[in-house]
Amino acid sequence: MASKKETPEKPYKTGLPRLMELTKIRKGLCLISVILSAAAALAGFIPYYSIYKILALIIQYYPDIRDTDLMLRYGLLALGGTFLNIVLYFGALAVSHVAAYGTLYQLKLDFASHIVKLPIGFHIREGSGKLRKIMDENIEQLEGFIAHDLPDMVAAMVAPVTAIIILFAVDWRFGLVTFAAIVVSFELQGIANGGQKTSELLNVYQDALEDMSNASVEYVRGISVVKAFNQTVFSFRRLHDSIQKYTDSVIPYTLSNENAMAVLTSALNNMYLFLIPMGIYVGKRAADYRGFLTDFLFYLLFVPAIAAILMKVVYVMVNSMNTANGIERMDKVLAEKPLTEESGCAVPHDYEIRFENVTFSYEKDIKALDGISFTIPAGQVTAIVGPSGGGKSTVANMIPRFYDVDGGSITIGGTDIRRIATKDLMNMVSFVFQDNYLFKQSILENIRMGRPDATEDEVIAAAKAAQCHEFIMSLPDGYRTVFGQSGVKFSGGEIQRVAIARAILKDSPILVLDEATAFADPENEFLIQKALSRLMAGKTVIMIAHRLSTVTDADRILVVENGRIAEQGRHEELLAKNGKYSELWARYTQALSWKMKRGNA
Ligand code: ADP
Repeated sequence: MASKKETPEKPYKTGLPRLMELTKIRKGLCLISVILSAAAALAGFIPYYSIYKILALIIQYYPDIRDTDLMLRYGLLALGGTFLNIVLYFGALAVSHVAAYGTLYQLKLDFASHIVKLPIGFHIREGSGKLRKIMDENIEQLEGFIAHDLPDMVAAMVAPVTAIIILFAVDWRFGLVTFAAIVVSFELQGIANGGQKTSELLNVYQDALEDMSNASVEYVRGISVVKAFNQTVFSFRRLHDSIQKYTDSVIPYTLSNENAMAVLTSALNNMYLFLIPMGIYVGKRAADYRGFLTDFLFYLLFVPAIAAILMKVVYVMVNSMNTANGIERMDKVLAEKPLTEESGCAVPHDYEIRFENVTFSYEKDIKALDGISFTIPAGQVTAIVGPSGGGKSTVANMIPRFYDVDGGSITIGGTDIRRIATKDLMNMVSFVFQDNYLFKQSILENIRMGRPDATEDEVIAAAKAAQCHEFIMSLPDGYRTVFGQSGVKFSGGEIQRVAIARAILKDSPILVLDEATAFADPENEFLIQKALSRLMAGKTVIMIAHRLSTVTDADRILVVENGRIAEQGRHEELLAKNGKYSELWARYTQALSWKMKRGNA
């Protein structure tokens, strides 16, 4: 079953090991980049070596200047080293960028094809803003890691090791104090950090960012309502609260790094504090003063370079912690199980739908469906009515497995829907919602989504049956008009008819209509009814209705209340029963007559 309330188990590694694992997607390129970067780091030491040699020559003969030819050669070597460093590093970055974008491409494809397989329930629970953030930002962060951090990290590992070897090789005493200074700097950083759980704060910060992303998407989507009711971002509480929560989390997270980073930066940049006393000590006792001076000057020049290298290590670590946190969020979604199909997929022999003792909860302990049982006969129209919140939409959502049952079973033609291949089930059921979604592409393509292999003539035939051919032909580019293109407006009723054309083209044997005519004006309603009757012909139809006038002709009416069937039968039978349905009917007709009286007044 699709996991819903439980957190999925984590099959993925976390942190740096997981990031390293992802570099395997473009393994060869990553390896080349890493080798080039390590070579660049080594080449970066050549100028220091040259400077050391030149210093030695100057000091050895001072105040005479000799061996200028040799010095020039060392100078050229330094230049060559710098050039090599630049070329190799440039090569490493060029290769790492190709690797990074290849990895992003692959991950985004995998992520997109995974989320489309997850049950609708997952999408409703998580919100589209969060998924957008993962896809656009978290996965994108990996570009920074593979393209920059990975080569830098290798350089940052090769460079300090080489540097420390050089430090000890030139003069072990200076090497020792520099090494001690590095250890003390990192120790001080640890103390300044005061055991703060930066990673926990980072998590809170990332959660707040996701929440804000969800709230912004919701705000932008609902902007028409916000404007219609003259609301502002301040009165739109959810977005306002999420921005506040973000502010409250970003500050502690940033501050948690402040002291530690300040201490580390200061300590690393002040390694002279260790080096100079040792210089004085060694200098006083030096038998070969010129030799001492050469080594000491070399250290004074080299130590700032080490500080810069180590700071780079720290930044790379902080960056990769951030990236790893983002990737962990992607992994959590990837660990969500797609709808499972029980073994031995079966094909139903007819389209009778049965709910047998079905229970389902969106939230723990609140039953939206509470042991509901009923049969929807094949080829008939079954209407579902009942008070708001009674469970009508939930019943409809269970049929194409937008959610899976918690208990009981749903069968189509005697076959449990969990045993029907998802693709077959999706082909079997069409939905016409209250809010239909058209994509920002041509009307032709929008209708063709019902059946991707349909010819243009078939699309037009479906549009004609759905009463939308005429208005489509009146659009500037006819069927090629792009929905959402500026200057082209569609009414709610027109969108609905395009959605019906899509369903007519799909021609699936089961049809779920959710409040299909709820907001239509009389002219549109007439056309929609005409379109729907074409669509419904010969199908097993489940019609969720609020306005009881649309259900009087239904073959059967199910009255759903509190997640159960309160009554069922035809309109006249139910009226005669004088029960729940006749109560709803009385209320409905009363409301209708009030409306008419008001209309006449
Ligand atoms: P109806 O269609 O009859 O108005 P629904 O099937 O939408 O009723 O809702 C049945 C119950 O389930 C209600 O209590 C509603 O609040 C709850 N519910 C519906 N959708 C969700 C959801 N996505 N998350 C949590 N609860 C939900």
